[in-house]
Amino acid sequence: MSNAKHPAEPFKIKMVEPLNITTEEQRKKALEEAGYNPFLLKSKDVYIDLLTDSGTGAMSDNQWAGLMLGDESYAGSRNYYNICDAVKDIFEYNYVVPTHQGRGAEQVLFPLLLTQGQYVCSNFHFDTTKAHVELSGAKARNFLIPQATDTGTYYDFKGNFNIPALEAFIEEVGAEHVAFFIMTVTNNSAGGQPVSMANLKELRKVADRYGKRIVMDSARFAENAMFIKKREAGYEHISVKDIIKEMYSYADMLTMSAKKDAIVNMGGMIAIKNDEDIFRGAQARCVPLEGFATYGGLSGRDMEALARGLYEGIDENYLEYRLGQVKYLGDRLMEIGVPIQYPTGGHAVFVDAKKILPHIPGEQFPAQAICNALYLISGVRPVEIGSFLLGRNPQTGKQEESPLELVRLTIPRRVYTQSHMDQIVEGFQKVMERKNELVGLTFDYEPAVLRHFLARLRPLDSK
Ligand SMILES: *Cc1c(COP(=O)(O)O)cnc(C)c1O
Repeated sequence: MSNAKHPAEPFKIKMVEPLNITTEEQRKKALEEAGYNPFLLKSKDVYIDLLTDSGTGAMSDNQWAGLMLGDESYAGSRNYYNICDAVKDIFEYNYVVPTHQGRGAEQVLFPLLLTQGQYVCSNFHFDTTKAHVELSGAKARNFLIPQATDTGTYYDFKGNFNIPALEAFIEEVGAEHVAFFIMTVTNNSAGGQPVSMANLKELRKVADRYGKRIVMDSARFAENAMFIKKREAGYEHISVKDIIKEMYSYADMLTMSAKKDAIVNMGGMIAIKNDEDIFRGAQARCVPLEGFATYGGLSGRDMEALARGLYEGIDENYLEYRLGQVKYLGDRLMEIGVPIQYPTGGHAVFVDAKKILPHIPGEQFPAQAICNALYLISGVRPVEIGSFLLGRNPQTGKQEESPLELVRLTIPRRVYTQSHMDQIVEGFQKVMERKNELVGLTFDYEPAVLRHFLARLRPLDSK
């Protein structure tokens, strides 16, 4: 019997989307056709889709109703002002530039904050964030704490910015060569791990000492706030909304992918506390890159869903269920002996494939082998976060070995129930039974850039 607890869903179902049930024989064929790369599977061949939590959430009846109130005026749509009001209320920031998604916000904002050749320092740059820092002519540096890569040991805030390492770096390169800081909440690339309020405060002190700005990369701002409430002394009786206000008082501006905690299928924004020059600059860049400054690539109706989603994402009953669902899946996997990044983060369970398949070296993509096996056995589609994603060294062309080979089981918001979580665990149980039969993979086709999206592979035992 399992001791794991699942908080009951704080919603009921009003509309359903049927799932496709397939046989193992059908999935074997689909996987072959997809070149053993889950990104190339058709979604109709997937039963439970854990590829990403981005844009895959279920909107509420209130958000769908909001779509009907879309004001599709080219300029000054009322739905834009509804986002501004929500941002002022939740984050206490004065200015908003909407964008089509998070990377649009990065593309518009970053060039305003740096000069060529400077460094941008972060607890961890998300991949599009790093790409936009580099496209703007700067260099991205990550400052993770050592606990973040030790998957087996509990630590409350594995997402924290490594402040001593940051200070040492600034002293080494000189403060004039550092442009600004990016604090990612939660720390997506470290496993959806949260950042503590104490760490945010400390980063503010460093920023003030050197005269630097802090940009909060805010995809999972609400999940981070809930972790602070649950884990940080002194915050247990403070509302998530007030925790968010305090978090954002330590930053100067934010970029947001609203496809995560704001629970929309498409959308994003820049918000700025009070720097009017940066706001004007962002508005000016938004026009050619995203669209006029009061819609930024979004329909009025999409902006309305976003404005409403910001409030639904910070509801504490929802967040209790959300973090509880991910924890439940992690706890049940641990019970059957699956090694995971512990504790679980906000949006996904990360399985440590290196520990399951020590016989498969990194260059043969052990985590991808497990993703494929789980799909074949159960129709569940996870995603590899390891050497297959990391790619080759651009100078030498040699495959780099990732420090962690992870299988990410990413949970869409308000989409799957407890029974689905149990199905995933059953699938994993069978993968563990067959683990000694699993083999590594090699390329049939390898694109030069961003290969993990489109590459085709084959198992190493076949010709
Ligand atoms: C998803 C994400 C982004 C990029 O947002 P998109 O909406 O996918 O363009 C940036 N930073 C973090 C931390 C993210 O999770």
